[in-house]
Amino acid sequence: MGLTSYREILKKAKISSDPPANEQVTRVGRRIAEATGRTDYQWEFKVIEDKQANAFALPGGKVAVYTGILPITRDDAGLAAVLGHEVAHAIARHGGERISQTLLVQTGLVATQVALSRNDPRMVQTVTSLLGAGATVGLLLPWGRGQESEADHLGLIYMAKAGYHPSAAKELWVRMAAESKGRQAPPEFLSTHPSHETRIRQIEGWIPEALRHYRPR
Ligand SMILES: [Zn+2]
Repeated sequence: MGLTSYREILKKAKISSDPPANEQVTRVGRRIAEATGRTDYQWEFKVIEDKQANAFALPGGKVAVYTGILPITRDDAGLAAVLGHEVAHAIARHGGERISQTLLVQTGLVATQVALSRNDPRMVQTVTSLLGAGATVGLLLPWGRGQESEADHLGLIYMAKAGYHPSAAKELWVRMAAESKGRQAPPEFLSTHPSHETRIRQIEGWIPEALRHYRPR
């Protein structure tokens, strides 16, 4: 399902050929991927030319970053915070949880598989959104609070293991929150990742633990 969604997204998206952006996303992405220890994932990193501030990681290791988030992530450590968090959603199978809780209950496994194999546009849109890449198909679904906490916690450990100081995650969320002020619509990333005040406090509490995994490069 992750692969089907990724292919559909990339078919419609404008893939960035900007060398610095691609090099940065690949460089940081590979380090995060390595920190997860998941060699069974077929990691792939793309940059999508889009003013939306967003990023996603699909089950199986297919990752994309929208150029609109790069001014907010600012540097490698900020990007590592976003990628660590998104990769954590994929590895913790949060999208899979949503698919089994909603789609499979409503539609059934066989009907879902058949519709997907036919590339039924509505089914691809639903699956893509449930997997957390809804910004591309115009159907943003917020993650649950428990899923968010788990992705923050796990993501912090990944970024520390990858050699990025975990306090960069806190700084990223502070910038993200500031970005939403004085705007008519918050960054798309915040539409799917709500409640930043609690998040920032929680991340602060996890930094000492993450620092035990921190291996500066
Ligand atoms: Zn999240």
